[in-house]
Amino acid sequence: MIDYQNILNKIHTSVTQDQDKGTIARYIPELARVNPEHFGMHLKLISGKEFAVGDSEVGFSIQSISKVLTLALAMSKIGTHIWDRVDVEPSGNPFNHLSLLELEEGIPRNPLINSGAIVIADILVSQLENPKAEFLKYVQDITGDSTIGYNLKVAQSEKETGFNNYAAANLLKSFNNLNNSVEDVLDFYFHQCALEMTCSQLTKAFFLFANKGNCLANVARLTKSQAKRINAIMLTCGFYDEAGEFAFEVGLPGKSGVGGGITAVLPNEYTISVWSPGLNERGNSKLGMQALEQFTTLTNQSIF
Ligand code: GLN
Repeated sequence: MIDYQNILNKIHTSVTQDQDKGTIARYIPELARVNPEHFGMHLKLISGKEFAVGDSEVGFSIQSISKVLTLALAMSKIGTHIWDRVDVEPSGNPFNHLSLLELEEGIPRNPLINSGAIVIADILVSQLENPKAEFLKYVQDITGDSTIGYNLKVAQSEKETGFNNYAAANLLKSFNNLNNSVEDVLDFYFHQCALEMTCSQLTKAFFLFANKGNCLANVARLTKSQAKRINAIMLTCGFYDEAGEFAFEVGLPGKSGVGGGITAVLPNEYTISVWSPGLNERGNSKLGMQALEQFTTLTNQSIF
C-alpha cells in the first residue's frame, strides 16, 4: 500500500521551499488580490479514502477548470452533437488565443480553450432554462456539497476586463457558431470561471471522470465512453501550450486554471487537486505543476 499521506507531506515541504512561486494572474483585477503563499493538495481514491495537505479547504477561483464541468454537462445534454460545433485537436496556443481563426467556419480547436468553452457555454444557455442556477446545482450535486457558489466580484471583474473573450464571442457569432446573444453567453461564461471551490471540493467534483462517469453518489452522469473522451481531451488540451509538457512530466489527464488550481485524474484510481496561485509563463500553476510531477514520480503511478 502506498503511503499517500507521507508523499503529500514530502511534496508540501519540498515545493514550498521554492523561492520563485510564479506570478499571480493580474489581468483579472480581482484575482490579483490573492495571497501567493497559499498551497494546498487533496487526493481522493476511488476506494473513498482521502488525503490532504496545506490549504486544501480554502476556496479559490477555479477559472478554466470549470471548462471540464461545463463540457460534461453539455455532453450529457446533447451528446455527440457537440462535435459539430467544436473540434478535439490540441491548439498548442495560449488559452486566450483566437484560434478559431486557424480553422475555417469558426470551429474552435477544442472545448478547453476560451473560444471552445464559449461555444459550450452557448450550448448550455440554449439547453438550460436557468443556466447559471442549473449549472451551479449540477456542480453542487456531483460534489455532494451545496455550499459551493459563484464569487460575484470575480465574475464582475472578468466582465469589465474580458475584452479578449468579447472578441472571441463576436467572432464566433460572425461565423454563426453562437446561437444566443454575446452578452448572455459571456455572462454565463464569466460566472462559470468565477466558481469558487476548494481542492477538496474539486477532487470530489472530478470523481466521475475517474469513476467511468459515475459521480460520488454513484449516479451515472456520463456514459463510460463520454468519461473516457473527456479524459482524452484533458490529456491533449488541458494545459494550453503546455499540454505536452504536462503529459511528459506528470502523465495524467488534467485541467488548470489561472486561479492557480489544477485537477488531475488517474482513471479507476484517484482524482487529485492542487492549488498554488503563482503561475508560470504559460499560465499554469508553477508549484502545482511541480507538485504533481513529484506525486506521479513518488507513487510511480500515471496513465503511462
Ligand atoms: N476566465 C479566464 C479567461 O477567460 C479563464 C482563463 C484560464 O483560467 N486559463 O480569461
